[in-house]
Amino acid sequence: MIDLPAFRGRLSYDTALAPYTWFRVGGPADVLASPADEDDLAYLLSALPAEVPVTVVGVGSNIIVRDGGVRGVVIRLGGRGFGAVETAADHRVIAGAAALDASVAKAAAEAGIDGLAFLRGVPGAIGGALRMNAGAHGGETRDVLIEAQGFDRAGRRVRFDKAAMGFSYRHSQAPDDVIFTRAEFQGRPGERAEIEAEMARISAAREASQPIREKTGGSTFKNPPGGKAWQLIDAAGCRGLVVGDAQVSQMHCNFLLNRGAATAADIEALGEEVRRRVLETSGVTLEWEIKRIGYARG
Ligand SMILES: Cc1cc2nc3c(=O)[nH]c(=O)nc-3n(C[C@H](O)[C@H](O)[C@H](O)COP(=O)(O)OP(=O)(O)OC[C@H]3O[C@@H](n4cnc5c(N)ncnc54)[C@H](O)[C@@H]3O)c2cc1C
Repeated sequence: MIDLPAFRGRLSYDTALAPYTWFRVGGPADVLASPADEDDLAYLLSALPAEVPVTVVGVGSNIIVRDGGVRGVVIRLGGRGFGAVETAADHRVIAGAAALDASVAKAAAEAGIDGLAFLRGVPGAIGGALRMNAGAHGGETRDVLIEAQGFDRAGRRVRFDKAAMGFSYRHSQAPDDVIFTRAEFQGRPGERAEIEAEMARISAAREASQPIREKTGGSTFKNPPGGKAWQLIDAAGCRGLVVGDAQVSQMHCNFLLNRGAATAADIEALGEEVRRRVLETSGVTLEWEIKRIGYARG
C-alpha cells in the first residue's frame, strides 16, 4: 500500500489493465491511479517515492500491456478532471489530455475552426496524440500544436512549445517521464458544414479500410522511410497469419487483432514473426509503433 493521505482521486490495487486497452489483453497494474485534477496529479507525483515506477496510459489504442502486468503506479487521466475542450480567440482550441481526439475535432468544427479535422480519424485521447504525434489523412499533431503542458516525475509543471516537443513521425522527444495534461492548438478559419463533411469522409474512409471495430492497436509498425509497412507485410505473406488467437488483419495487414482469446504474448510473438519475415523477404527492419509496456508472465 502507498501512503497518499491528501490524494483526492481514485486508487485501486492489483487492477486489471486489459479493460482499459483496445486489445483487451494484459496483466494488472500494481496500483492504478486516476487523479482528480492537475493539483492532485502534482501531489501524487511529488509524494510517490522516486523509486516507484510511474507509467501513464491514455485510452489504450496504441499499447500492448504484457501479461505479467505493470509494476508501480499506472496513471490514467479521467475525463472529469482532464477532459475539457474549449475554443478560444484566434481559432485556438484548448483540450485536456483525456479529451478524445474525435471530441476535439468536433468542438473545433462546431466553432468553425478548420485544421483539426484529421483528429476525427484517431481513436485516442490528446495525451496519446502528443506523445505519438498522432496523425491521419494529411494532418499531424505537430501541424497544429502551439503548446503542451504537463508534469514531470517530481510533480513540477512543465511546458513545451512545438519546437521543444521535438516531433517526428509518430514520436515526440519530450522527456519520457512527462505526463501531459493539456494542449493548445492553432486552427484556421473555416466553414462548419465543410469541416463536418470532411470529418464524415474521414470516418467513412476508415470504416472501409481499417478493422476499427476489432480488438486492435492500430498501425503496429511505423512506415519505413519511403515505404509502407503494410505492403512489406503483405509481400512477406503475412496477411492473415496467426499465432495463438492473434491474427494479422485480412483487411489491413499492418493491424494485428485479438480474435477473442489472445494473450499479449500471442500478439507480441505475432508481431515479432512479422518483423522476422519482412526482414527475410525485403531486408527491412520494421520498427514497432505500438508501445509495449510491462512484463511477460512468469
Ligand atoms: C483502429 C485504430 C486506428 C488508429 N489509427 C491511427 C491513425 O490513423 N493515426 C495515428 O496516429 N494513430 C492511430 N492509431 C493509434 C492511436 O489511436 C494513437 O497513437 C493515439 O494517439 C494513442 O492515444 P491513446 O490515448 O490511446 O494512448 P495510449 O495507447 O494509451 O498510449 C500511447 C502512448 O502515449 C503515452 N501517453 C498516453 N497518454 C499520455 C499522457 N497524458 N502524457 C504522456 N504520455 C501519454 C503512453 O504512455 C504510451 O506511450 C489507431 C489506433 C486504432 C486502435
